Amino acid sequence: MKRAAAALAALALCAYAPAMAQPTPSPTPGAKPQDTEQWKPVPPVVTPGATDAAPPSDAIVLFGGKDLSEWVSTKDHTPAQWQVKDGVIVVSKTAGNIETRRSFRNYQLHLEWRVPTDVTGSGQARGNSGLFLASTGPGDLGYELQILDSYKNETYVNGQAASLYKQAPPLVNAMRPPGQWQTYDVVWTAPTFDAAGKVKTPAKVTAFHNGVLVQNDFVMAGETLYIGKPYYKAYDRAPIKLQAHGDPSPPISFRNIWVRELP
Ligand code: MG
Repeated sequence: MKRAAAALAALALCAYAPAMAQPTPSPTPGAKPQDTEQWKPVPPVVTPGATDAAPPSDAIVLFGGKDLSEWVSTKDHTPAQWQVKDGVIVVSKTAGNIETRRSFRNYQLHLEWRVPTDVTGSGQARGNSGLFLASTGPGDLGYELQILDSYKNETYVNGQAASLYKQAPPLVNAMRPPGQWQTYDVVWTAPTFDAAGKVKTPAKVTAFHNGVLVQNDFVMAGETLYIGKPYYKAYDRAPIKLQAHGDPSPPISFRNIWVRELP
């Protein structure tokens, strides 16, 4: 019994140990500063843009103000039919969702969007669109970072701007008023799957809205769904998709979209 009590006391001590001050470890005798220097491989040089919003030298420009050559219609992969006017893309709600010609795995993305000043409606019916970080099929299949007018516009919080739709509200509401440009900067870590299609590692999202952190390494539970619980479906590379939402409010615009592929 005594021994058991002693063992218990020792266990209790162990449990508290992390809370106690730890002695600073002294370096191994003979250790040199050079032992912990890494010289190779040298990180590649990337020339940043003139501003932090401009594409750096290793970016793929998905829209630079000219045309939609990098985009196709989600439903039939024909050239995207949204309008390009005055250097910006205007959503065509009748033409449906558009997505990139290219497919991606992990990446850093920059995108700018604007709700028109004459926006109407409320809740989800006010400037609704979406940035699908991976488009895994037709329609709204994939992983949606919500786009919505969330400037003084109440809705369910896991469906407001910068939410991962129905999975994660943004950490804060960093929305600018209608008529002003908004930025999204996103780091997308794609999910990985084993040969049987089972999730090996889940998808993760870090996102900034107008430079403010809104998603911090959020672990997705699966694809974003309008109805029901999220689940994963195996895929390898996927396009990036923009949503033509059916709400009757006037269409939003996009500009300056670029992506940097990550290992
Ligand atoms: Mg949406």
